Amino acid sequence: MKSSDLYQKALGLMPGGVSSPVRAIRPYPFYTRAGDGSRITTVDGEVLIDCCMAYGPLILGHAHPLIHQAITWQLSKGWLYGTPAPVEPEFAELIIRDHPGMDMIRFVSSGSEATMAAIRLARGFSGKQDIVKVEGGFHGAHDGVLVKAGSGATTHGVPDSAGVLPDVVSHTRQVPYNDPEALESLLSREDDIAAFIIEPVMGNIGPILPDDSYLRDVREITRAHDVLLIFDEVITGYRLGIGGAQVMFGVRPDITTLGKIIGGGLPIGAFGGRKEIMELISPAGPVYQAGTFSGNPLSLSAGMATVRWLHAHRGIYRVMEAWGAEIGEAVAGKTEGSFVRLGSMFKYFFRNRAPRTYLEAKECDTGKFGEFWTAMRKKGIFLPPSQFETNFLSAVHEDGDIGQIAAAYQACI
Ligand SMILES: *Cc1c(COP(=O)(O)O)cnc(C)c1O
Repeated sequence: MKSSDLYQKALGLMPGGVSSPVRAIRPYPFYTRAGDGSRITTVDGEVLIDCCMAYGPLILGHAHPLIHQAITWQLSKGWLYGTPAPVEPEFAELIIRDHPGMDMIRFVSSGSEATMAAIRLARGFSGKQDIVKVEGGFHGAHDGVLVKAGSGATTHGVPDSAGVLPDVVSHTRQVPYNDPEALESLLSREDDIAAFIIEPVMGNIGPILPDDSYLRDVREITRAHDVLLIFDEVITGYRLGIGGAQVMFGVRPDITTLGKIIGGGLPIGAFGGRKEIMELISPAGPVYQAGTFSGNPLSLSAGMATVRWLHAHRGIYRVMEAWGAEIGEAVAGKTEGSFVRLGSMFKYFFRNRAPRTYLEAKECDTGKFGEFWTAMRKKGIFLPPSQFETNFLSAVHEDGDIGQIAAAYQACI
């Protein structure tokens, strides 16, 4: 069946025809038959260079032979036990060693689950009720974080979704990104704030990059007010480098959440932090957290193969950085918008200056982005279909791919 037919069928069976909203490309999404390296092949026979990489997890591209091998090996021994498996402490040790903010870790099955548990843990540890998030920051699809554009730093949140209780999000405060004064002012007025949760580099509306000292300021302010700092590194973990944003920017959070890359393309999440905090997690402590699929050996094996590969090929981060720079050079003369990149994350914003906050990002011309996206697709490049989703490169993109992507950017803007 062709993509248009599959979508017609899906529309009657699945809300919006898709399993996750961003995939509902208009007029219909293409269906992928296979992925290989940096490319996906659609059921309609198109071959596209992928700059979406499943929204971040696939840092080694599609169907990487080493991950394939790790999964196959595990499959032959069964894939879910309901008991601990040897890969858990092994992978835990590896991740903890890479992250200065982690003494202990709990594996879960998605990034949403990780942030949900991290917030509960922060409340359990501090005995305080409220949390602060960044306007436009995305931490998954659970109630307490589904709140975006407050009208000001101090307003109580308004739910982003029907079905989310105003009572629940009234415990979620917001501050603009890159605004340490707003955070300082909120924390000095309020005394019931358990944690500040932040994507150190905003990945779900960007990338939007932190100003020079922003993350260090955030660390100092939260420490001074006895508020836990949660780095949501579900995107940035192993994406910006080994140890993610906390290593790149030299800032140690109290709790870190991970996901995406650490599953090697299979479902995963994890959260970790200081020992005294993590030891409150059940069964060691009173903060309940549990999951049938938590720490499943298949996801962990795929993730560990990925992380080991990255350790063995650390130079790849410099290579990906240079690829991003090459794409940036191709659009350097364009005045239509602004090109933002960090490592293997990049985006062209249809706003003449790079956004520093959610509200600035919202000023982008999404109509122009839509036309650009379609033109890129015709040139054989698959970008995430939203002005606000980060583009990703992988370790298995090749120089030739980057040349094609750069040429397409130059031609399509
Ligand atoms: C993707 C993402 C999540 C949610 O992870 P899922 O595995 O989709 O539940 C949470 N936080 C950030 C920063 C993310 O990018």
